[in-house]
Amino acid sequence: MLDVLRRIVQKVNAAPDLGQALEIIVQSVREAVNVDVTSVYLLDAEHGEYVLRATEGYRKSAIGKVRLQKGEGLVGMVGEREEPVNVEDAPGHPRYRFVNDTGEKPYHGFLGVPIIQYGRVLGVLVVRQREVRKFDDEEEAFLVTLAAQLAGAITHAGTSGDISSVLDATHEVSISLQGLPGASGVAIGQVMVVYPPANLDAVPDRKVDDIETEIKNLNEAIAAVQDDISDYANRMSAVLPAEELALFDALLMMLGGDSLAGETIERIKAGNWAQGALRETIAEHVQVFESMEDSYLRERASDINDLGRRILTHLQSDRPVSRVAYPRTVLVGEEISAGQLAEVPLDMLAGIVSARGSSSSHVAILAQAMGIPAVMGVRDLPTARLEGQTIIADGYRGDVFVNPSALVREEYVRLQAEESELTEVLRHVADKPSETPDGISIPIYLNTGLIPGIESTVPGKCDGVGLYRTEIPFLMRERFPGEEEQMRIYRKTLEAYAPKPVTLRTLDIGGDKMLSYFPVQEENPFLGWRGIRISLDHPEIFLTQLRAMLRASIGLNNLTIMLPMISSVTELDRALVLITQAFFELLEEGEAVYRPPIGIMIEVPSAVYQVAAMARRVDFFSIGTNDLTQYLLAVDRNNSRVAYLYQSLHPAVLRAVQQVVQEAHKLGKPVSVCGEMAGDPAAVLALMGLGVNSLSMNASSLPRVKWVIRSFTMGEAQELLQQAMLLEEPFAIRDLYNSVLEQGGLGGLVRAGK
Ligand code: PEP
Ligand code: MG
Repeated sequence: MLDVLRRIVQKVNAAPDLGQALEIIVQSVREAVNVDVTSVYLLDAEHGEYVLRATEGYRKSAIGKVRLQKGEGLVGMVGEREEPVNVEDAPGHPRYRFVNDTGEKPYHGFLGVPIIQYGRVLGVLVVRQREVRKFDDEEEAFLVTLAAQLAGAITHAGTSGDISSVLDATHEVSISLQGLPGASGVAIGQVMVVYPPANLDAVPDRKVDDIETEIKNLNEAIAAVQDDISDYANRMSAVLPAEELALFDALLMMLGGDSLAGETIERIKAGNWAQGALRETIAEHVQVFESMEDSYLRERASDINDLGRRILTHLQSDRPVSRVAYPRTVLVGEEISAGQLAEVPLDMLAGIVSARGSSSSHVAILAQAMGIPAVMGVRDLPTARLEGQTIIADGYRGDVFVNPSALVREEYVRLQAEESELTEVLRHVADKPSETPDGISIPIYLNTGLIPGIESTVPGKCDGVGLYRTEIPFLMRERFPGEEEQMRIYRKTLEAYAPKPVTLRTLDIGGDKMLSYFPVQEENPFLGWRGIRISLDHPEIFLTQLRAMLRASIGLNNLTIMLPMISSVTELDRALVLITQAFFELLEEGEAVYRPPIGIMIEVPSAVYQVAAMARRVDFFSIGTNDLTQYLLAVDRNNSRVAYLYQSLHPAVLRAVQQVVQEAHKLGKPVSVCGEMAGDPAAVLALMGLGVNSLSMNASSLPRVKWVIRSFTMGEAQELLQQAMLLEEPFAIRDLYNSVLEQGGLGGLVRAGK
């Protein structure tokens, strides 16, 4: 059964559009379960009806015509109950409804299972038998398993097909996709698809005019792979048994034969570039092999894939694609890295759309810092078909429109204009102090380090740097940066802000920030070797960084050091010993270093409950709400599937912050917040009420946060917090703060908040 299931899902996944995907489903299920009729009904949400969209066994003319109200008939009952309905004699069932259009003579056996994706019923898969038939447990389980897997494929086929029609259409068709707000703002521009090298599946289609050159490139790449394989086979001929060597002959035959090359060339002639054409040809061949009965032949699918990857590697390495960005480029990809962002000149980068991740992924934080709108977690993003398309990315709501209609476009142009007006208003508060109307000062600091260079524009607008993520100089290199190199980088920022304080956070790699030259393979990287854990296991790396930090501050004396991911007092004590060691080493060497204040991030739940003990050892705390939210709520900050559960205004997060503030203040230690919450206007009001002493955020949030601080007294914030703490649902807390912002005339910020 598992085999049949796998094959059906594979075929459906490869279908170019929804119609063909459904056709494959009804045909294959009818065979697999041996029934008279298989049908798929999909929910037309607008009209609240289940519409027959494919059938094998009923009259084809009924497709699109048969419509059942939600809740009507046995099909409606499946949707309503969200569970299988298995009836051996359907006409005898009180909910049965006879439908004439299908040519349905009374069929008796009925089994319907819901097709559900992310908690939403998309439709119902039904099998029917002419005779009375009670489908057995195994058949029911098979259909349930299949339907669960088909939901994603159906959605994907729907979007891909729609996008293809956009590409081919002479008239205007607009496609909308739903993602998650990543970084605020609206981007209107043209798609540039980014993809990791030698990943065939991620290669986009691209129209080309110079067909001859593409064919030449392909032939050269194939010839190069043939050479590689022959060389390898020759070298291995003495070591490998004959049957293994035969595999190389088979691969060479495939490469030399007409089908791979010939079909790819045909696709190039139809206008696609060599890489896109290759992707399509390989996918088709892989599919043929994967659906073979014989398990040996099925295994050969991976050889074809491998050949495809090898050809692609040559296509990419010999002729690096000159990626000319559009004047307003919207980067689109399965996953976008910080390095890929840097490939587009900043003045040409209009927005980011990513299939993976959420607002707390580092690339979204980076986008926010750069003031670039971003939409994350757009599942079913048909990246292969999007190159060059006009696109709108709404970073506030997470909406994406491909080839938008004139109406949608006008609306977004208007929104962009409103946004510039708001920026203008905010500019007026830029140089005013960050204090409440009743005179309480809440310093605002900058989160930086992610993009070199931007900090120089900000010193006048904030009270210093509250979080300098030192990972970036490490991520941008091919080896660990040395002491001198790091010292120079840190000193630039310390100098730019002096005499204001600059908090350098020690290395926080691991999680979603991996160094290419220090690979760590883990099942669960966010719960693994990350942050301070790596630093303590590699004192040689940690001490080098600490020495660089201390030396960078000589004569400026505005450095503070912060340790990430502290989860126990033991870790903290070990780190403090190493800081002391670095300090005394430098003193011995005659360097005029000063001993900086030292603080820790509170971002692991265990730290929340040890603040008293930690407070005796450090000078300050900074709450990392990005990780604290993820760990407290057990919601991966990068996983778009559970992003709706990632709520910083969750009562549990607010209580954790409250506990940290109360415990720290008992020992006179200040508390800051440096997670994304500190840049979210509604959350800022809550943090003020909680008694947080300062806030640290990305550059683009500074003006709006200052505006909030200057608009509400501390008394008001505390009163609001009392109300908020009585609420039990995260959305109710957000609604409360949003409505207060709106009443206070700061409605523009509600949209701008995340
Ligand atoms: C945090 O976790 O809130 C934080 C500021 O650190 P990072 O986002 O770099 O993990
Ligand atoms: Mg963190």
